[in-house]
Amino acid sequence: MTSSRDDFSRRTKSDLALRASYQCSLCKASTVGPSDEASNAVTMIGVAAHIAAAASGPGARRYDHSMTPEQRGSIDNGIWLCASCSVLIDRDEVRYSTQNLHELKLSHEASRRLQGQGEVGRDDIIAIGPSLIALGAVLRFGPDGCRFRISHFLEGNIRELWALSVDFSKWPDEDRYVLSNELGYGGLLSQPPAIERTESGHEVTVQIQVATDRRNALATKTMCRETGRMLGGMEAMESLFGNVLGMAHGTWFADLQSGSFISDYHERYAGSDWLSRLIMMDIIRLSFVPRNSRAANKKVVPLDWVNRVNSVSTPTFELTEQYLSIHVDAELEGVGNWSGVLPVFICTPEQLQEGRDRAQKNAISISPTVDHGIVEALPVDKKTADRLKLPGR
Ligand SMILES: [Zn+2]
Repeated sequence: MTSSRDDFSRRTKSDLALRASYQCSLCKASTVGPSDEASNAVTMIGVAAHIAAAASGPGARRYDHSMTPEQRGSIDNGIWLCASCSVLIDRDEVRYSTQNLHELKLSHEASRRLQGQGEVGRDDIIAIGPSLIALGAVLRFGPDGCRFRISHFLEGNIRELWALSVDFSKWPDEDRYVLSNELGYGGLLSQPPAIERTESGHEVTVQIQVATDRRNALATKTMCRETGRMLGGMEAMESLFGNVLGMAHGTWFADLQSGSFISDYHERYAGSDWLSRLIMMDIIRLSFVPRNSRAANKKVVPLDWVNRVNSVSTPTFELTEQYLSIHVDAELEGVGNWSGVLPVFICTPEQLQEGRDRAQKNAISISPTVDHGIVEALPVDKKTADRLKLPGR
């Protein structure tokens, strides 16, 4: 019998329930308990609900035509809810958008993570290129490479990782990188990642190129935005650090690939512990991954004075006049250990959209034929936008 609904498999349903600890991701009610019908009977009121509807038609919520049946039936499209919340999310598509439900699921699963049981406690975030973000742990780090165990993908999937290892040479140079929060470090890969399937998931071995051309943190110079005064030393470093983090990706017409994703992350993850972890990942990217700067006509590493990121935290999610306070602890070239609070500008979603639209328009109108680089960069930028589910794209 065939069905036009892309339902979840039993395995997927059970995985969703386990990952949520059998608690509703929305109201946190327990969804399983004893039944009086028999001494071994169990009452279950939990539902593996579809984020994007399993089938199109009247009443289908958040149905996405662009998804394949496989994607609709995959665990990434599911969320564990109690019976009444599963009805609720299908009554109000505005309040319970696809993006909101994904966030709800992530933060609920994060809150159910087991603590104090060795390595299960707090998984590392590992990024392999811009579209693969996974949870896992560093198993080994040495001159012969770095070995990670990947337990779960936040973005992308294992097939895309296999594809990367096979098609490594087809990936843009700038995208062949790995970032690890646990190491506080990252860099370009010198060869394709080697993947091995194990009982506990997948293990990936990578060779990270050593970062070159570090700049002494005390040698940075910049102008104070308020007074126009030239700053030097630590004052300049802190000011530049905050400015690099506060420039949103894709909003500078002369270099559409520059900038940080912190405003996007703030919009999606404020209120959850994912925010500081993703900001840390982005700081590592900006510290270690060289990018061909079309404006400077050379490879640049925006935070090339950072040798290791030790920790990142955001004690409050509240903004002060659109600035978020980000606490950073890092090892800096020429300075050693440093920790400080960086005020980082956060764009609203409307400002982001406007800034990106304007930058793309200006990039094209200024050099319609000469700079193919910028025009070619557009699909990549759109992909990034899609990945981050930016509004109106
Ligand atoms: Zn509920």
